[in-house]
Amino acid sequence: MSISAVMPTYARTDLVFDRGQGAMLYTTDGRSFLDFGAGIAVSSLGHAHPHLIAALKAQAEKLWHTSNLYRIAGQEKLAARLVENSFADTVFFCNSGAEAMECSVKMARRYHQAQGAKDKYRVITARGAFHGRTLAMISAGGQDKHLDGFAPKVDGFDQVAFGNLNETRAAITPQTAAVVVEPILGEGGIVPADPEYLKGLRAMADEFGLLLIFDEVQTGVGRTGKLFAHEWAGVTPDIMALAKGLGGGFPIGACLATERAAKFLTAGTHGSTFGGNPLAMAAGNAVLDVLLEPAFLKDVNAVATYLWAKLTPVVAKHSKVFEGIRGKGLMIGLKCKAPNGEVLARFLDQGLLAVGAGDNAIRIIPPLNITDAEVDAAVAMIDRAAASLAA
Ligand SMILES: *Cc1c(COP(=O)(O)O)cnc(C)c1O
Repeated sequence: MSISAVMPTYARTDLVFDRGQGAMLYTTDGRSFLDFGAGIAVSSLGHAHPHLIAALKAQAEKLWHTSNLYRIAGQEKLAARLVENSFADTVFFCNSGAEAMECSVKMARRYHQAQGAKDKYRVITARGAFHGRTLAMISAGGQDKHLDGFAPKVDGFDQVAFGNLNETRAAITPQTAAVVVEPILGEGGIVPADPEYLKGLRAMADEFGLLLIFDEVQTGVGRTGKLFAHEWAGVTPDIMALAKGLGGGFPIGACLATERAAKFLTAGTHGSTFGGNPLAMAAGNAVLDVLLEPAFLKDVNAVATYLWAKLTPVVAKHSKVFEGIRGKGLMIGLKCKAPNGEVLARFLDQGLLAVGAGDNAIRIIPPLNITDAEVDAAVAMIDRAAASLAA
């Protein structure tokens, strides 16, 4: 037997973490790392946040799970708060980003088909996008590296160039139900959409009667300095998928929608055994307790501004290693000239964790509550790492 007991679907870094505290992670063999990857933008409040611990402990001693056969108080509370703070009127809870996107696409299909447009099912997506790893979502993302060996593709997704309104318009047919886009390509390498592109998609969706879906699984929940990244562009979608940062490390997915978009997802049309269970909702509500404090996003923007100011000259200085810096708020992409895996290995040597992405980029996606001192430490590590690689 040569296969590992854990199915080897990841090329894992050989580190085992034992505990975390704030932006720090500690390995079982006593090493410490500054975590500027946050478990892929998930640990939005860092590790071992006292308010999250207290909320989860309190819930753990009361009730873990009942199923969605019954009302769940934590769901009603979290949904009401998401509704109050977004374009949405209603929320479906699930367990992951892929599931939130599945719900979004099912909602869009049903919206049209329940109104008699039986052949409206196709969804326009962007090349380079990532929407998760289910059969439908690898087809939505359309990337060869995710589809290889999993044929046939799920039918119903048409890919166009990210940022290209003309191509999007040309791809619309009488069968088109919706358009999906990430306001900033995440896995695709931290590529921000132009606000005019998002506005153009909104106008196009309205013109053709399509639903506009934003995948904010990575960009949402304060990551860019607004609660949701689309707020920067001043446009709202009909449907939005959330996950990663919403649970602060507890698995949660959420599909938010307007009443108009969601009104045909009636009882029995969609579901999830675990979705929105009391433990997950305690975590989600605890995250929002912190995020919705009036000063929180102001602080995120302040530390993000500081990080950009410190990092930009370091990136420019190491022009053999880095090509540039892009993104928004605390969702930062370092486009590399050297192979991004080698750059990440040098970061690791310095004690810094970050995350690779497509387009030979590195994601700097720290907890939202990092301090200026942690920024200083991280930027110094990036500087030394790049110098060691260039030498
Ligand atoms: C991570 C991600 C997903 C998939 O989320 P999972 O929880 O891994 O299913 C979907 N969309 C975007 C934009 C993501 O970043």
